[in-house]
Amino acid sequence: MPTVIGFEGSANKLGIGIIRDGEVLSNPRVTYVTPPGEGFQPRDTARHHQAHVLEVLQKALDEANISHREIDCIAYTKGPGMGAPLVSVALVARTVAQLWNKPIIGVNHCIGHIEMGRLITNAQNPTVLYVSGGNTQVIAYSQKKYRIFGETIDIAVGNCLDRFARILKLSNDPSPGYNIEQKAKEGKKLIELPYVTKGMDVSFSGILSHIEHVGRKLLKSGECTPGDLCFSLQETLFAMLVEVTERAMAHCGSNEVLIVGGVGCNKRLQEMMGIMAEERGAKLFATDMRFCIDNGAMIAQAGWEMFVSGITTPIKETFCTQRYRTDEVEVTWRD
Ligand code: MG
Repeated sequence: MPTVIGFEGSANKLGIGIIRDGEVLSNPRVTYVTPPGEGFQPRDTARHHQAHVLEVLQKALDEANISHREIDCIAYTKGPGMGAPLVSVALVARTVAQLWNKPIIGVNHCIGHIEMGRLITNAQNPTVLYVSGGNTQVIAYSQKKYRIFGETIDIAVGNCLDRFARILKLSNDPSPGYNIEQKAKEGKKLIELPYVTKGMDVSFSGILSHIEHVGRKLLKSGECTPGDLCFSLQETLFAMLVEVTERAMAHCGSNEVLIVGGVGCNKRLQEMMGIMAEERGAKLFATDMRFCIDNGAMIAQAGWEMFVSGITTPIKETFCTQRYRTDEVEVTWRD
């Protein structure tokens, strides 16, 4: 019954979670929230994580009600993500691994999301849509790899939403995407926006500059409201994501779809994906904010799978990397 602790800090969430054989023993998290109109910078985000990591670690142990002696393995996010925050959290993971004399495993952040989604929803072999502030990928498992069928060719869908929230000066608390989702409920008018899918790939940066440019004009002339713009942006982006996910499902003959990543808790995205799934006779799986937003337990869970399959990372190789593709990892724990 291995018990694994996971350290996550690849972006503005710092999370430490403990997993014991599929059971989440604890999963505390703190978020670095910047003022409206501002994004989070790597250096400030790293400082935030450094300031809170020890209290979050203590909380993770206290809530799980275990001593560090009962932990069998340390898992940390190796990448992808922002360099400075990644390194500040990996340093603590490396330190406790040596202090407590435990093995350590570097985990791919995207695979953390996938394994957490599979654990929580019990989806067996889903086509995965991974959507967050830093990533947008359509993924399916085949022959020891999580293969990327489609992805963004520029910015992530969550980055598009976050940056539009900054333009509107929406609050970053609890997250810009959450506040866009709420604003979108006030929207009545669908403003036509560019719709950019290329095969199974998607592109968002042109849509962002278009809505920034046209949106300002329409707001000024009173032809639309901020709610209309949020509504139109969500409908367009999510339709693109549902389209490419459906194409991957058709290709794989898949009857399960799993949405993971921070944007995955958007109820409208879940609704649209659910309609597509139902029309194909497939089942939609999604999780809530505790597990789809970056957290420590997801790193612990992927680490648990790796550890049980016999993998550990030599301490000399416990570095971080900002670029680390999902399909680089050999999935030793699945058939
Ligand atoms: Mg993420």
